[in-house]
Amino acid sequence: MSSITIALSKGRIFEETLPLLAAAGIEPSENPERSRKLIIGTNRPDVRVVIVRATDTPTYVQHGAADLGIAGRDVLIEHGGTGLYQPLDLKIAKCRMCVATPAGFDYAAAVRPGGRIRIATKYVNTARNHFAGKGVHLDLIKLYGSMELAPLVGLADGIVDLVSSGGTLRANNLVEVEEIMHISSRLIVNQASMKMKRELIQPVLDAFAGAVA
Ligand code: ATP
Ligand code: MG
Repeated sequence: MSSITIALSKGRIFEETLPLLAAAGIEPSENPERSRKLIIGTNRPDVRVVIVRATDTPTYVQHGAADLGIAGRDVLIEHGGTGLYQPLDLKIAKCRMCVATPAGFDYAAAVRPGGRIRIATKYVNTARNHFAGKGVHLDLIKLYGSMELAPLVGLADGIVDLVSSGGTLRANNLVEVEEIMHISSRLIVNQASMKMKRELIQPVLDAFAGAVA
């Protein structure tokens, strides 16, 4: 019997995906926040969920280790999207990608054509594309977390990071100086799975689309 595997990350994506799964008649049998299991069964014998790091979701789906996954647009842009269908914007885990600097920093002067700026971020592709359009020399510093610290200790002039309420920026005396793009999470599907397991995948896709609309 054919079966499908869905890759999800813990935290907000798992929580916000539960109602979509319910609309497709799928109920995970455990909560990954409480369980340490990385492979979780569901009420359906032909559907299982694997718990991965958010940034790893596209990789699992690209290689067919999971047939479906849910990943932020931020993560998909950094991954590149090779081998993935992205049929549906799920409109969950919404936030925005932006540039932030210390309140006193003259951002307008730094990003004039011929200018130079030092940016710390985990979103290096996004940052490179954004500043490439401005004719600015970009010094990129790759970090893996707590980007807000970098400008406060002289590692960078500013950061490229996700913002929702702005509370973390405010708490660290940073201001949002430019919005780069809106972010939400998307359903991703392995291209071979879409062909070979269409009879299992299409109903999930339709149920998700109905629940989003
Ligand atoms: P960690 O925070 O443990 O380093 P992570 O940042 O990879 O892990 P999450 O913080 O759970 O994982 O973020 C997962 C996805 O949710 C992101 O890729 C992004 O699309 C979205 N997201 C991140 N921060 C926010 C936010 N503040 N509000 C809404 N959505 C967010
Ligand atoms: Mg996070």
